[in-house]
Amino acid sequence: MFLSKLFLPILKEVPSEAKIKSHQLMLRTGMIKQSSTGIYSWLPIGFKIMKKIEQIVREEQNKIGAQELLMPTIQSAEIWKESGRYDDYGEEMLRIKDRQNKEMLYGPTNEELITEIFRSSIKSYKSLPQLLYHIQWKFRDELRPRFGIMRCKEFYMKDAYSFDLNDLEAKKSYNKMFFAYLKTFKRLGLTAIPMAADTGPIGGDLSHEFIILADTGESKIYSDKRIFDIDISSYTNQDNSINELRKQYDNFYAVTDEKFNKESFEKKVNKENQIITKGIEVGHIFYFGDKYSKPLKCSVDLQGGKKVDVKMGSYGIGVSRLVGAIIESKFNNNIMKWPHSVSPFDIALIANIKKNDNQTYTKAKKIYDYLIKNNIDVVFDDTEENLSSKFKKFDLLGIPFQIILGSKSTEDKFEFKEIDGETKLLSLEEIKNHLNKIK
Ligand code: ATP
Ligand code: MG
Repeated sequence: MFLSKLFLPILKEVPSEAKIKSHQLMLRTGMIKQSSTGIYSWLPIGFKIMKKIEQIVREEQNKIGAQELLMPTIQSAEIWKESGRYDDYGEEMLRIKDRQNKEMLYGPTNEELITEIFRSSIKSYKSLPQLLYHIQWKFRDELRPRFGIMRCKEFYMKDAYSFDLNDLEAKKSYNKMFFAYLKTFKRLGLTAIPMAADTGPIGGDLSHEFIILADTGESKIYSDKRIFDIDISSYTNQDNSINELRKQYDNFYAVTDEKFNKESFEKKVNKENQIITKGIEVGHIFYFGDKYSKPLKCSVDLQGGKKVDVKMGSYGIGVSRLVGAIIESKFNNNIMKWPHSVSPFDIALIANIKKNDNQTYTKAKKIYDYLIKNNIDVVFDDTEENLSSKFKKFDLLGIPFQIILGSKSTEDKFEFKEIDGETKLLSLEEIKNHLNKIK
């Protein structure tokens, strides 16, 4: 992509309504644009990053055997009345009527709808377990939308649902998701810690919030700092391995506000290991047994003909919130750096192009063509802006690698720079190999 062609409405000033770094940066670099309170358009760069996050989330769901489907954003009020949540959900739910005066709503979550799909299709215990998910827009009429896309009204969420025959099997599904979440966040360059959490209006008794530490986070957490050192890389998605991993995490105290108990915190965690701080909730998993299957009469036939209500769990990841959460955790000294896995481009090509200077342009264009031919997604700054403003712009954009066509480059070696790191002189082939290695 040529920078001169890119739809990149960079703002000169930090917008005054933005209170936190991620919101400021997303507006400044034209990733999003507010359309009305708590509702945003995603512009090309922001959208591209979110789609990359979505794809990683999807791949990790598929790896544990979850199957993707797509439910609509608009739901009928009927099933919510059946579950009893139509009244319970309160004003966060956006209620609408169609032209037949039928009560509809913009889905804030999908437990009811997925249960309705399941109960009308699955009749026998033989079809269990099932793990289904979709990635779809949600709407919650938040009382105080804030921090840009971190807490907004319309947001993009992955929500998965598990259906099992009994508690034991259901907890296996829960643990699989627990594992998939850890893998997902790691690939996004984040250390997200599962913290025992309250279940809120979703209900149930087993729940973890996945939280990344950030001063601007809205969740208060209490934990043992050793939990941050758990290395998940040697675990697999086999039940035994996942159980071991769960045990590792259960060894350490880590809870959110609502679950905090001063006495047990002080008893279980030495003073020097205690962390009391704030974090951003990027995912939330619940096990709630038959809370929905019972009122919605979602049962399967057992071998002898007896019916049993299926045991369910639900599992959310805030795909759009993650865009902001990654910025909050990576922004440092006014420099942004996207993890390579979700960066809007693999590399930026920066050359000092002056008016009527065909030579530099031609040289840069050759590099550009080589990278494109090798499937490296490069953005070429082909504008005639001066170098220092180009560098400032790329510090904001946060593409992790740069090729700088400056005074130090030779005929076949170029300055290759990691955005917050050192510069090396490398050939194009070496650059290609380096990028392919970390892909
Ligand atoms: P919160 O406590 O932040 O309101 P929640 O417990 O209501 O979150 P869930 O219902 O568990 O959220 O939704 C799953 C995920 O969706 C959350 O972990 C979060 O990442 C994301 N999410 C929830 N509400 C919003 C929102 N208003 N804006 C953006 N993302 C959200
Ligand atoms: Mg909420």
